Amino acid sequence: MTTKELYSSIGVSGYGHQGCWRKGGIFHIRMEAPLSCHKCPKCGDRNVIHRGTFDRVVHAPRIGLDRTVLFIRAPRLECRRCQQVLNAVLPKIEPRCNYTKSLARLVVDLRKMMTIKDVAQYVGVSDTMIRGIDKKYLSRKFGKPRLRHLEIIAIDEIHVGKKNKLTQLRRDLQREADAMGRKVLKGLRYLLLKHQENLTESKNERARLMEALDLNQPLAITYYLKEDLGQIWQQSNKAIAGRFLKDWCARARASGIKVLQTMANTLEGHRTGILNWYDFPISTGRLEGINNKIGALQRTAYGYRDRDYFIAKLYALHLAKFELIGVSARGTHSCQGR
Ligand SMILES: [Zn+2]
Repeated sequence: MTTKELYSSIGVSGYGHQGCWRKGGIFHIRMEAPLSCHKCPKCGDRNVIHRGTFDRVVHAPRIGLDRTVLFIRAPRLECRRCQQVLNAVLPKIEPRCNYTKSLARLVVDLRKMMTIKDVAQYVGVSDTMIRGIDKKYLSRKFGKPRLRHLEIIAIDEIHVGKKNKLTQLRRDLQREADAMGRKVLKGLRYLLLKHQENLTESKNERARLMEALDLNQPLAITYYLKEDLGQIWQQSNKAIAGRFLKDWCARARASGIKVLQTMANTLEGHRTGILNWYDFPISTGRLEGINNKIGALQRTAYGYRDRDYFIAKLYALHLAKFELIGVSARGTHSCQGR
């Protein structure tokens, strides 16, 4: 293979070869910036004077099994028009970064199948660099989503309300429960959140639930009101559903149970959105799925300190093939190292 072909395969064609050596599993190449960069970085004028050189160390895709590091010598140029001395812009190198554009493309491809850690290990650079490349690519691609063809915006109005209130109530009660009651309440969260028709008879779930409900009246009221709330989707039209919601909220307030009262406020606050379902009956299945993925994304990244990166990752959720596998079924343990 000629040098020209090798350079083209690692994405730096046009650079002048000066020498190379292998040491410790790293392929070092010394090269000179191509003549095409001999122009003013600002105005592009070719009428420039050489004012010395500068050196850059740049990472490139692997050559065989070896990591590749490039030592590039490039000119400093004085532009007669701008009257400034500036470093030449290096073609095929990511601006203001120490890696080639070809390496960035490789990383983006690998990221579709591998975690940040895996890619970093394979390419032989730091996690931080991989994250930086990923972020740059995602914000370039998804930074400004096109909304021209958007028809409907769906908001998961009761997602917040649904899961937490009953759990909170159970916790409040458990704290107060006597020794006997505590045993029954333990492990109940799951049963309380389950729909009545989904309770498993073989596991004695219904009996355990009923026992707990008998023991504790506020819990029972809350449970039955929760079950009843599901009926909101079974009304024959929007107006009737509106009356149902109003009625439900009145009963919740009358119960004197704080969590239910809060829930009533939440629901009333989202009244329009909830009732909109009768105009656009979109299933929340997909929405729930996306919510799950977002949750997993947050947990696996140990919380995103970089808000822009997090938002870009959210837009790119539909691209992720490997990272969220098993999230809904098994929690989050299958998606580490991101
Ligand atoms: Zn200039």
